[in-house]
Amino acid sequence: MENIGNLGHMHPLSQVITQTTKIFKDLGFVVADGPELEDSFHNFDALNIPDDHPARDMQDTFWVKPLSSKKLMRTHTSSVQVRYLEANKDNLPIKIVVPGKVFRNEATDSTHEAQFFQIEGLYIDKEVSVAHLKGTLEYFLKNLYGSDTQIRLRPSFFAFVEPGFEVDISCFKCKGAGCGLCKQTGWIEVLGAGLVHANVLKAVGIDPQKWQGFAFGCGIDRLAMMKFGIDDIRNFYSGDLRFINQF
Ligand SMILES: [Zn+2]
Repeated sequence: MENIGNLGHMHPLSQVITQTTKIFKDLGFVVADGPELEDSFHNFDALNIPDDHPARDMQDTFWVKPLSSKKLMRTHTSSVQVRYLEANKDNLPIKIVVPGKVFRNEATDSTHEAQFFQIEGLYIDKEVSVAHLKGTLEYFLKNLYGSDTQIRLRPSFFAFVEPGFEVDISCFKCKGAGCGLCKQTGWIEVLGAGLVHANVLKAVGIDPQKWQGFAFGCGIDRLAMMKFGIDDIRNFYSGDLRFINQF
């Protein structure tokens, strides 16, 4: 009876997943999911990632034996974009967010794990522009990091969007003055985004002349590390109650 007060609480990653999906639900997004064991079509081909892309290398991705099966542990939640579009191409427009676990075959350190969580977003409709993308991300990041949060978009390359952007927020710790968290720049990179590439829509049989959209993805672990001031990603998966009980 002595421990009756110890009811437990949600893991910090679950807290951030719950909080982020709630923000997007308020904007009309629905939560979708898909398999963690994927095939190369849904993880790579349909996302405009060609055969010679380094992400396809054994060094970067956990391929499952027999290799001829072309099965792998998904490297991003973007594979669910493809599955959801295949199933709903006659039910457009769609707005989804996809929280889930992803896998990378790489050495672990304080900022890298072989498994971590992402949240992905996808909006397909007629006449979707970068302004819609920016407005949506601004709403999301202001709700997560405070109403005085500024965002900026920088051009970047991701195979499945065109144009593509890295999205930064103004540093919530130093308010832009420069500190260790933002590496003295006043800005912190939080996610990747862009307008859905026409080849992605074509791969699932959607006419890119009629439909457009935006997509974005970010690492839940990274959001949680910044939110709670955690300096080592491996703590999330350690099972150490001395760590978990702090949040
Ligand atoms: Zn700072």
